[in-house]
Amino acid sequence: MADRTHPVELHCGPDQGRAGGPDYTAVGLRLGMLDVVRSSEEHSLVGHLGPDLLGPDWDLNLAVHNVQRDPRPIGNALLDQRNLAGIGTLWAAESLFAEGLSPWLPASELPPERLRALIVRAQRFLVINKAHAVQSSTGERQAGRTSYVHGRAGLSCRRCGTPVRVEPIGEAPQQRVMFFCPTCQPPPTM
Ligand SMILES: [Zn+2]
Repeated sequence: MADRTHPVELHCGPDQGRAGGPDYTAVGLRLGMLDVVRSSEEHSLVGHLGPDLLGPDWDLNLAVHNVQRDPRPIGNALLDQRNLAGIGTLWAAESLFAEGLSPWLPASELPPERLRALIVRAQRFLVINKAHAVQSSTGERQAGRTSYVHGRAGLSCRRCGTPVRVEPIGEAPQQRVMFFCPTCQPPPTM
């Protein structure tokens, strides 16, 4: 498991280092967690994954169903790879911002059409970015301009000017951080 203070980068593939450039079968950038196991033990990690947003068998209805029945906040539900596989903290934060949803809204209380729009948005971000080393939700690839909220704590929201906030979400050892704009993404009303 990675030390949280040192972002891990993983590149692996049988053709790495050959003439003509690398041909990776797996790439991970700034990973918060990384487990490496033998192929024979893969089931111990991936046997319980939800539908893969970039996989050939992507199933939007199943992903919506899994998230909808999750009793936790939507931010947690999106990051849980058992619900749907492929969303990390970057795309969870950017998708929630784009849809104007607080990460702390209970997933099960979101109208199905909003949940669906959120997951479609996240999938679109992943598809658009899968061929880029620099991940961007804004369409810009220059450093400091690639996200609306992720990594921008204390900076002004690009939409409304309110300082972007960051708070922990989830429970140890799966605790992560979530960036959000408290104005564009109003918190749940008690
Ligand atoms: Zn805002």
